[in-house]
Amino acid sequence: MKKRISIIIPCFNEQAVIEKTYETLTHTDFGGYTVEYIFVDDGSRDDTRKLLKRFASENKQVKVVGFTRNFGHQCAVSAGIAKAGGDAAVIIDADLQDPPAVILEMIRKWEAGYQIAYGKRVKRKGESRLKKCTAWAYYRVLRMLGGSYIPRDTGDFRLIDKKVVDFLNAIPERNRFLRGLTAWAGFSSCPVEYVREERAAGETKYTLKKMFRLAGDGITSFSDKPLKLPLYVGAVLLPMSLVYGVAATVLVILGIWEIGYVLFALVFTILSVTLVSLGIMGLYLSRIYDEAKGRPMYMIGEEINFNKEET
Ligand code: UDP
Ligand code: MG
Repeated sequence: MKKRISIIIPCFNEQAVIEKTYETLTHTDFGGYTVEYIFVDDGSRDDTRKLLKRFASENKQVKVVGFTRNFGHQCAVSAGIAKAGGDAAVIIDADLQDPPAVILEMIRKWEAGYQIAYGKRVKRKGESRLKKCTAWAYYRVLRMLGGSYIPRDTGDFRLIDKKVVDFLNAIPERNRFLRGLTAWAGFSSCPVEYVREERAAGETKYTLKKMFRLAGDGITSFSDKPLKLPLYVGAVLLPMSLVYGVAATVLVILGIWEIGYVLFALVFTILSVTLVSLGIMGLYLSRIYDEAKGRPMYMIGEEINFNKEET
């Protein structure tokens, strides 16, 4: 049977651009594969849903999932992935910032054996300097905090093999940072460079609040360093306070310092002990959180000589 590719397009209030996106996608060369378009309407309050229904009535390749309200981009993409029936799925924004022509290149990488072909933005057009700078800094901080496997400067524009789709559908994690999760699972992946275009029409649907939330999800789902921070600070402060406390006591006894300096040491010691205790709690919390995420313990890439009779 011919292989099928599912194209997942999350949309939120995209009436200004969605027709153009639909036209462009349906005229894109996908290397002869059968294609299904899964539009996920993330609770749009404009005419997006109506337009999507029209596309679906005209074209049986178009499938529409409509949310009851706005649940957010990562939820919309997750819903699309849950519905994807293809041998591979492609996640692409609805505003043509991710050029559909790049998908064919991703498909070629997939044919060559990669399970993920992710879009790497070499240039971003028409985005504010603030957005570019914060995005640049964010990916570096994220890696520093522990997400070392998360590729820099990538969004969700990517092709994922069915195995990755099945993995994402199987994990129970709710506050998802998809680009991190696919990287975490360690599937074989390969970048495809592209120039991020300007939005074809309409305005960004990623409000500052949503962006912060996504950024927070990225850090909190891949790093437990913030939880351990008090422990590190406390561990440095505690011996310093103790040494200072002893020195201050001696100096007070010798009549060189006032008694106030000992009180000072006391305050610092109490603070350090509190920080250390908080950090220890952080260690346990990090364990609980890790268990609660319910990610698999490991991922097996291949198995050799199992299910074979010994001779
Ligand atoms: N989007 C969504 N739900 C939201 C916000 C955005 O489904 O709550 C979709 C949006 O329609 C678009 C994609 O996510 O297809 C990326 O959003 P946008 O282009 O506004 O973000 P930006 O490119 O400015 O970061
Ligand atoms: Mg956009």
